[in-house]
Amino acid sequence: MAGVPFDQLDGQIWYNGEFVDWGDATMHVLTHGLHYASAVFEGERAYGGKIFELTKHTERLHKSAEYLGFEIPYSVEAIDEACKETLKRQGLQNAYVRPVAWRGSEMMGVSAQNNRINVAIAVWDWPSYFDPDQKMKGIRLDIADWKRPDPATIPCKSKAAGLYMICTLSKHAAEAKGYADALMFDYRGRVAECTGANIFFTKDGEIHTPNPDCFLDGITRQTVIGLAKKRQLKVTERIIMPEEMADFEECFITGSAAEVTPVSEIGPYNFAPSAISKAMIEDYDKAVQPN
Ligand code: PMP
Repeated sequence: MAGVPFDQLDGQIWYNGEFVDWGDATMHVLTHGLHYASAVFEGERAYGGKIFELTKHTERLHKSAEYLGFEIPYSVEAIDEACKETLKRQGLQNAYVRPVAWRGSEMMGVSAQNNRINVAIAVWDWPSYFDPDQKMKGIRLDIADWKRPDPATIPCKSKAAGLYMICTLSKHAAEAKGYADALMFDYRGRVAECTGANIFFTKDGEIHTPNPDCFLDGITRQTVIGLAKKRQLKVTERIIMPEEMADFEECFITGSAAEVTPVSEIGPYNFAPSAISKAMIEDYDKAVQPN
């Protein structure tokens, strides 16, 4: 599975306001972001040379930093421009865009009041996986042992590195059992989200999705809710308990990376990807294309 390591790809990376060669976008081992997870990031996709919902992602990056008590030293407009320029320099049409911001090395302890805030943007080739027949088979999800945490225990609305500790643990456990990913419940035992995507279910022609009150209200999630409503499909955001999964018909997950991906199985529960999943895949695929 292992391809070329990410630190050995080609091109240029935007790094604190300048473009540097890919291999020169380095930092010291004594970096606060590495030791204390004081880092936030984004995951975006470009389609046909245009980054989908770029400004929403950049605004979320700013917000994520605020939740961690630091300020990104570049405006939303400046980061938007830097993302576009990085994409252009990489010469890619369909790509993944990864802005990241982190506390630097000036102080090395829990306190990091004087640390520089660094920002980098890397863009790499990642064509969107689109074979509708293959996709409609659905992926299989494990049920994670880890729970999405109580908002009183962590800034859960931040797309922050630290929040992904339990996602990597859950995804590794799922992969070890042959699953593609894992569904996580929250600290109250409610259905929450996957390790890097939100989740939707259908029943009797209507769509149901958990309230994002302790996890990311994904940009793809918001897009898909809008697209469903445009089709006059009823979407209910509500508390969903695990037992309810026995009665749902379809299930799909959404995320900038995952796009709209149908699910065929979650632990003991089975789903049959069908008309609504197909419609959402098609609508999302159209929505992301530049006009
Ligand atoms: N939840 C988690 C934990 C994620 O990592 C992501 C991907 N950013 C999402 C949900 C979906 O967010 P978006 O649609 O904004 O990519």
